[in-house]
Amino acid sequence: MKCLTLLIVIIFSFMTNTVIAEAQVWKVSDNVYSYGNPNLGYFSMFVVTNEGVVVIESINSVHSKAMLGAIKNITNKPVRYLLQSHNHWDHSKGGKVFREQGAKIVAHSEAVEWMKENSHDDLVLPDVVWSGKQKNIVLGDTVIELHYLGMNHGLGMTTFLLPKEKIVYIADIVTPNRLLFSIADFNFREWTRTLIALEKMDFQKTIFSHSHAKSPIGSKLEVIQTREFIEDLQKEIIAEFTKGTSFYAIPNTLKLPKYEKWDFYKEWLPINVWAMMFQMEMGSFPWRSTPMTDETKSKDSQ
Ligand SMILES: [Zn+2]
Repeated sequence: MKCLTLLIVIIFSFMTNTVIAEAQVWKVSDNVYSYGNPNLGYFSMFVVTNEGVVVIESINSVHSKAMLGAIKNITNKPVRYLLQSHNHWDHSKGGKVFREQGAKIVAHSEAVEWMKENSHDDLVLPDVVWSGKQKNIVLGDTVIELHYLGMNHGLGMTTFLLPKEKIVYIADIVTPNRLLFSIADFNFREWTRTLIALEKMDFQKTIFSHSHAKSPIGSKLEVIQTREFIEDLQKEIIAEFTKGTSFYAIPNTLKLPKYEKWDFYKEWLPINVWAMMFQMEMGSFPWRSTPMTDETKSKDSQ
């Protein structure tokens, strides 16, 4: 089926609960699609080339099986690669569904080292492990650039750029129309540096792994807005420090009215403030020494 939007009703079973949810396919360009369920808030991307399909982000087996069905409604070409964005279970599970179809699973070594030590029933270890700052996947007429931009969130966080189509897939580090999910595992300094690097990339459309907008498709604007939010948050905290407001009072007194329409403004603003204040006081974390340098070349192991 090649209609612009496919609506598929899928029954999701989560442990003892059964939830009926609507999953959807968005056509992003001639050969690029996003698959996801706005009710569950997770979105993948897939690219149809003349030699097969590349999937980005498996999420879990339930999501992956349903996505595979949606792919088969569009093309009878096989899935050749599954590309994973980072280590976290809520993104990296479900790979088995595509491996059983003959696809190779690809992830950055930083993510794979974590996966080896943190097993899960629905997690399989990738087949292609790459290191360094960039790796290109070429399938048929399509090039997909895998960019590792540093320790912004989780481990091995990879952003995917289709240079010809000018489309990028961004997991977790930008979620439009929502406050920051800053409860854990975000390094603000690296995060800001990464967003500035993304702003310099040549793309027009983005697909976000999570979005509180009407669709997962956005543009560079949301990348800029996320960076501005982080900067505004820090500026307001510094203003409170300057006024002499107590450290412990700031999370409940600081307001950012410019962002009050964003989801979870009330609920998460104090959490965002705490997270930023801790890193301003203690220094950036999580952090560890890493061999990443400009000279580091991409290396594969399979
Ligand atoms: Zn994550």
